[in-house]
Amino acid sequence: MRLRKAARVILIGAPGVGKGTQSERLLQRFPQLSSISSGDLLRHHVKQRTPLGIKVESTMKAGGLVPDDLMLRLISNELTRRGWIYSGHPSGNVMTLASSSASFLLDGFPRTAAQAERLDAIVPINLAVSLRTPLEVIVQRIGGRWVHEPSGRVYNTTFNPPRVPGRDDVTGEPLVRRPDDSEEVYRARWERFRETSEPLLEHYARKGVLWEVHGLSSDEITPKLFREFERRFVE
Ligand code: ATP
Ligand code: MG
Repeated sequence: MRLRKAARVILIGAPGVGKGTQSERLLQRFPQLSSISSGDLLRHHVKQRTPLGIKVESTMKAGGLVPDDLMLRLISNELTRRGWIYSGHPSGNVMTLASSSASFLLDGFPRTAAQAERLDAIVPINLAVSLRTPLEVIVQRIGGRWVHEPSGRVYNTTFNPPRVPGRDDVTGEPLVRRPDDSEEVYRARWERFRETSEPLLEHYARKGVLWEVHGLSSDEITPKLFREFERRFVE
């Protein structure tokens, strides 16, 4: 389906709520969209043993948050690399949106109100989606989560199993568990989310772009999300 208006969307939600799953589905439905997942980007750096990856590895393993400055640099580099923003000032400090028609989805960034404020100075977000699923439901399904590391594709042995057990549908490559999905680390991630999400949601509520969607499963949330996208960016 074609978007008529530029969608500059962020997804906010507890760890394991299904941000990655909804991103994938939105990208399939609206091919003009592209997405950046901050978690996937960071995991890529860790895997490649880049200086940034080495720096953030222990924080991620413990379920902590990577410092805002590092995150900002990482995301603005990625936005620049993709040609969505350019640094128009000789100092390189001032970023400008490259085209008012670029449509994109950010999954996992911003995570704090401070990150949101600094993103505002680069790109104006016009929809912040808050994905809401009860904690008990999320905790139950985290145990069944398997990922295809190179692409970030997510499966769940109960709800969304791969066609061949333990193998990615597209490439046939092996699926792995995320090291930070262990019960103990999950608890730390949830704690970070609990601390940071309220100010973050308030930030976007004040801007008038916050929209909440509730559901017990990703399948319940997806049609609601599609409808809202159509209402805002297609009709
Ligand atoms: P899920 O992918 O299941 O929705 P999640 O939101 O906890 O769960 P990711 O977004 O994949 O996981 O992030 C994994 C880790 O990367 C986080 O626990 C955190 O350490 C780090 N991270 C990702 N995005 C940010 C961010 N915007 N600010 C700080 N740290 C981040
Ligand atoms: Mg994710």
